[in-house]
Amino acid sequence: MNELHYQLDLLKAMNQKLAEKEKMYSRIFEVTESAFIYQSFENELVATLGQWNKFFDFKVRESGDFSRILDLVEEAHVPELKNVLFLERQGETSAQTDCQLKATKGWLQFRAFVIYTNDGKPVNKVIYILNVTKAKIQNEELNYMAYYDGLTGLFNRNYFVRLLTEYIKTAREKNAVVSVMFIDIDDFRKVNDGLGIMVGDELVQQFGFFLKEICGDDMIACHLHSDAFCLAVYDPSGVRSVDAIYRTIQQRVKDPFYISSGQELTVTVSVGVAEYPEAAESALELMNCAELVVFKCKKQGKNVLQYFAPPILENFLNSIELENKLKRAVYNNDFHMFYQPQYYAGNRRLRGVEALIRWKDEDAQMISPATFIPVAEKNGSIITIGKWVVEESIKQYAAWRKQFGFPFIMSINISALQYKREDFVDSIVGILNQYHVKPAEVELEITESVLIDDFGAVYEKLKILRNYGIRISLDDFGTGFSSLSYLKKLPIDTLKIDKSFIDTVMTDSATRVITEAIINMVKSLGFESIAEGVEEEQQYNYLHAIGCDVIQGYLFGKPLSPEELETVLSESPAAKIS
Ligand code: C2E
Ligand code: MG
Ligand code: MG
Repeated sequence: MNELHYQLDLLKAMNQKLAEKEKMYSRIFEVTESAFIYQSFENELVATLGQWNKFFDFKVRESGDFSRILDLVEEAHVPELKNVLFLERQGETSAQTDCQLKATKGWLQFRAFVIYTNDGKPVNKVIYILNVTKAKIQNEELNYMAYYDGLTGLFNRNYFVRLLTEYIKTAREKNAVVSVMFIDIDDFRKVNDGLGIMVGDELVQQFGFFLKEICGDDMIACHLHSDAFCLAVYDPSGVRSVDAIYRTIQQRVKDPFYISSGQELTVTVSVGVAEYPEAAESALELMNCAELVVFKCKKQGKNVLQYFAPPILENFLNSIELENKLKRAVYNNDFHMFYQPQYYAGNRRLRGVEALIRWKDEDAQMISPATFIPVAEKNGSIITIGKWVVEESIKQYAAWRKQFGFPFIMSINISALQYKREDFVDSIVGILNQYHVKPAEVELEITESVLIDDFGAVYEKLKILRNYGIRISLDDFGTGFSSLSYLKKLPIDTLKIDKSFIDTVMTDSATRVITEAIINMVKSLGFESIAEGVEEEQQYNYLHAIGCDVIQGYLFGKPLSPEELETVLSESPAAKIS
């Protein structure tokens, strides 16, 4: 009896353990969010477990029911799924596939495992079914992101480089040409700044869609960044020739782009072309060469197509070298000021001096400001350089004013970037105060380029400076847009007629007519006129005769070092030119 009791207790205990285990497994199946099919080949049992109901509205009770699963998936996935569901038929131990469902378009992953006896008979099989729809979508998105640009649907830069590299490889084998066209929308910044980036984005998007449309066999396009696109054409010819593609683009941009917020935008584009094998041999180099050409196009007036030529690269490399040298020069302050005297045409007395910067580089080579000032303006170092120029010139003037005891005008060139600084007016006034220099003895030279970008803001600053008593002079007149009518509006005291006029004034009667008109206009507006670059006596006589007020040029004095200028000053104010 005891023995029976003992057996019963044991059975009870075992049952309880089993029940607990079952509970544990079903709990595990529940949380896995997956479904299982278990098949025992020994006792022909087929059971479904886990979250089966979340996947299917039928049960699988025998191997014949597997076909019901096959009915649910897309036709293309059936053969592979069959191989997985019946993997024991191939003697496989595991297999896996992803299938898309016909009805919901969701994705299921099927993983099957079989255990075999030593002599190769299947014992049991487990099929694990998992919903992978989310992962699939994410994967597709990732794939898309890896190859495409989200805004335009064109290829992205990386993938474009890969495809272009393939083009080049084939072209190398087949002796073919690959053209790369770098396309940049002109004045895109104005769209972005003026109308907002949403409008800018839409313009880029529409232009991108257009490029996608014109691409076909052996032609690919990508959106690089902002308003920059790249096209590559394998073996260009006929309608796929660079010129034909350019014409198609020109044709498109003639018509406006209609922005959803109601604006109509008409743009122009600049295109730089570089070709394999002539310009470069790798994808990135080709793209860089084409981009350099676009930079050049932009400088030459935009809305053009231009091909790469080796000097473009050479100039570019030189400018990089210059830029690096300039950075070091700014750091070491390798600059000096020279001063070129200006004389009244009538009595030939000293009117003032123009402060001109000089840079002797590490190899003791003189580099002209006409070369390095534009570079400094581009990389922003003009701010540091310009500040130094102002302080150095005014400090120097203060010392000379004290030493020689008479006033003259210190004329200082100011670049557009300096004017744009919020603190520009304050810093000039601060330096004048620091060295106790009278505002009327200082003149700031501006060029028309200062006024182009933001006339309103510059105008306000000029007015403040003039009200303070500082003189303003318009430099290089005749080289910019030079409209005589806008002169009236400018708060200036002096106008400097550019050297290019003086150069031809004795040989070209048209130049004489214009020069005389300018001088008359300047007089009627009450400004002072200065002729720049006067080298010949004849030029001086003529300019004097037509009423030009001041003469500056090699004829009466080159730019001089401070020591040299002191000799001139020591003979002033009676310093007449013989
Ligand atoms: P700019 O302001 O028009 O200066 C006049 C230029 O003409 C100077 O060239 C001067 O040396 C040159 N020049 C004067 N008379 C004659 C002449 O009779 N014959 C010839 N062939 N040239 C003459 P420089 O010093 O090489 O300066 C070139 C330009 O660089 C200046 O043109 C000015 O735009 C800029 N620059 C010079 N110094 C500074 C500076 O301190 N700051 C800024 N922002 N720009 C400067
Ligand atoms: Mg000047
Ligand atoms: Mg000038």
